[in-house]
Amino acid sequence: MLTKTESIVLKTRKYSEADLIVTCLTPDKGIISAFAKSPRKTRSRFGSSLEPLTHAKISLWGKEQSMPKITQSDIINSFHELRDNFHDFINMSKLSEILIALMPEAAPNKKIFSFFLSILALIKSSEEEPKDALFIIAQARLLAITGYAPRLKGCGKCGRKSQNFYPDSGAILCSKCASSQYVRLNEAPLKIADRTLGFYTHSIEWPIVTSRRLKPHKDTLTELSAVIDMHLKYLLNKKLHSSSFLAGTERE
Ligand SMILES: [Zn+2]
Repeated sequence: MLTKTESIVLKTRKYSEADLIVTCLTPDKGIISAFAKSPRKTRSRFGSSLEPLTHAKISLWGKEQSMPKITQSDIINSFHELRDNFHDFINMSKLSEILIALMPEAAPNKKIFSFFLSILALIKSSEEEPKDALFIIAQARLLAITGYAPRLKGCGKCGRKSQNFYPDSGAILCSKCASSQYVRLNEAPLKIADRTLGFYTHSIEWPIVTSRRLKPHKDTLTELSAVIDMHLKYLLNKKLHSSSFLAGTERE
């Protein structure tokens, strides 16, 4: 069966001398993996369309259950600027990895597709300077849109004001809730500065075009980045150990 869809290439790996396995994000099939003939000529149009971060219109041949084959791919936007800039490419690859790790395969989500596409366009059009903030905002928003954002707006259980983040709970907890049975007592919290909490809230609640106008302090970005990394590390560990983990993906 031949199907056509839009796609953003998240990553590729060599399968054999002649084939590639392409992992891409699509609006109507979610994340899919597909075979593609490895281009013989490095500069071929088909080959370029399989480069990571490329937005293209693709044709898939074969059943979705077994890995389909990409038979045609026409570039809508190559986003080559993001591959040519080392830091942009590293940062975008991290976003792709987060998405691959957290989004279940073949679960369509148009909102995530348009979000990812808008981030690509935003980074491409941004000046050098505000990009660090933009990438942190993008990570926070990606976690929020997939339903995995850490809860940092007051205590995650009772809403009381607190600055103590507990990675195992994925949330800030007040001292009262932290001492309850739900939290391992040997887990030391990370105290997060108020301005970092404020920046995080803006990052996930305000429209991204507004958030990118914020000029957060370098320490704020460093701190938020560390919290997100800690949260991701915990999520991915938990995912490895629990097959029911992804059941909660649908919540917003
Ligand atoms: Zn509480």
